[in-house]
Amino acid sequence: MAAPHQPTALSTLPAPRAPLSVQALVLNASYEPLCVVSGRRAVVLLLTDKAVPVAEGDGVLHSERAEVHVPAVVRLTRFVKVPYRATVPLTRRAVFARDGGRCVYCGAAATSLDHVIPKSRGGPHTWDNVVSACGRCNHVKADRGIAELGWRLRQAPAAPTGAAWRIVGAKRMDPRWRPFLENGNDDLDEALWGTPA
Ligand SMILES: [Zn+2]
Repeated sequence: MAAPHQPTALSTLPAPRAPLSVQALVLNASYEPLCVVSGRRAVVLLLTDKAVPVAEGDGVLHSERAEVHVPAVVRLTRFVKVPYRATVPLTRRAVFARDGGRCVYCGAAATSLDHVIPKSRGGPHTWDNVVSACGRCNHVKADRGIAELGWRLRQAPAAPTGAAWRIVGAKRMDPRWRPFLENGNDDLDEALWGTPA
């Protein structure tokens, strides 16, 4: 990329020519994956010296003085401390990945999310109360708690740990991110990439 000698005024950046779906993976200074941002946001991080490019992506942004390639991966120049619990998005895809795509009650293929303590009884929409379930169990369970049904969970649901989980909610995965998202979890790999490691 052609780095400008002087910071480019951000207001002079036009909309990216690259499709709006272009996104970049942001790594911490330690190379730990943090999040996914728009290509434009990634360019702003580069122009303000908050990040350096790690892998080149598609598209180019033009400003009056500079032409900047939109990166596929950037790394922050300063380490930021992030509480991962707050950043793992509680999405259907992520819950299915944690539970191996299986119904936690009967082991059949999961088709929906279920609140272990039903919402109607104050059950929260949190990692420790949301599980993947099959349509049948979800229907049978309805608004009842598992104790009433004599059902048991093999293990208590909990928030997943590990940095790669932060990315599981991304709309589109860029294969150039993969080397930075190694995680040793086949279920997570399948959720991220469609194939196990
Ligand atoms: Zn089931």
